This record gives sequence, C-alpha cells and structure tokens, in this order.
Amino acid sequence: MHDDARYQHRFREFLRTLGDDPDRPGLERTPQRVMESMQYLTRGLREGLGEILEDGLFEEASRDMVMVRQIEFVSLCEHHVLPFFGHAHVGYIPDGRILGLSKIARIVDHFACRLQVQERMTSQIADCLVDILRPKGLGVVVSATHMCMVARGVRKQDSQVVSTAWRGDFAQDDRARQDFLLAQARC
Ligand SMILES: [Zn+2]
Repeated sequence: MHDDARYQHRFREFLRTLGDDPDRPGLERTPQRVMESMQYLTRGLREGLGEILEDGLFEEASRDMVMVRQIEFVSLCEHHVLPFFGHAHVGYIPDGRILGLSKIARIVDHFACRLQVQERMTSQIADCLVDILRPKGLGVVVSATHMCMVARGVRKQDSQVVSTAWRGDFAQDDRARQDFLLAQARC
C-alpha cells in the first residue's frame, strides 16, 4: 500500500479508537488534512540549511551587538505532538561577519518546524548561528506557551516557558548578558 494510503487508513482507525466515526461527512478528508498540516509543521526536517543561507553572509567590521527580537514561531512538542509557540530573541556581537536579518528568522523556523523540545531548539539555534557567524558572543532567549501544559495535564493557561542559550561573551561576561536582556526588554 502506498505510504499516504497506509497513513490515512491508520488515522481512520485512530479516530475510531477515540470513539468517533471516520466515515461521517465532517471527518472524511480529515486524515488528508492532518497529514498536510503535519508536513507543513515539520518542514524544517526536509529543508537544507544551505538553501536558507545562500547569499546571506556579509563581511562587516561592526563590533556592536545586533538583535532580532520577537521572532514568532510555532513548533511541535515531541512528547505530545501538540503545538508550542511564542517568540525567539536572537542577539550577537559580530566578529567580522554578519548574517542577513531575515536569515536569522529562517534559522529559527528551521529548528522550530519539527518535533522538538524547547530546550534543544534553543541550543540548536544558538549552535547553528555560532557555526555560521563565529561571533564574539551570541545569545538566544525563547519564551513559549505549550499546549500540552495549557489544554491537558496541569492545565496552566498563562504559564510560559523561558529557555536561554549563551555562547562566547554572553556566557562569560555578566555585563554583556545584561546588555542583551536590556535590549530584549526594550519596546
Ligand atoms: Zn508536551
């Protein structure tokens, strides 16, 4: 059986296990739609970093911190396959190279669009950017709402999970980290 057909068959069985009728009109095309939305939400698995980064790296003498704040993302918790979503803030102190600003947002999406845990996503974004930029310092702060905490389990609707990754100067120097946090908080 073709992969798609096999998946749709299993998803129909899954709906039946939940006590619903996969043959009722509203659910008829649901397995297909679920598959399409899962493919969309995990698209980071199938895209190469090379195609994201093409033409994005520039030589630049600037040595001052640059930050892209409030990069929104949607990811999927790998434990419950429920969304977690929020914002990533990425700042770095260049050391001869800068990256096109939209590329930073694309790297966030690259690591968000897969089955993930927030802690790993945060360090993957940081380590990938360190590899590309070799900056003096780099920090990533991610704050997110997890549907697996909001809609099930402890059901804490307003809870937010904040994770951080500090590299280079931001890991070693309290002042640099303070500058990052001030820039992140500024409106
Ligand atoms: Zn979860």
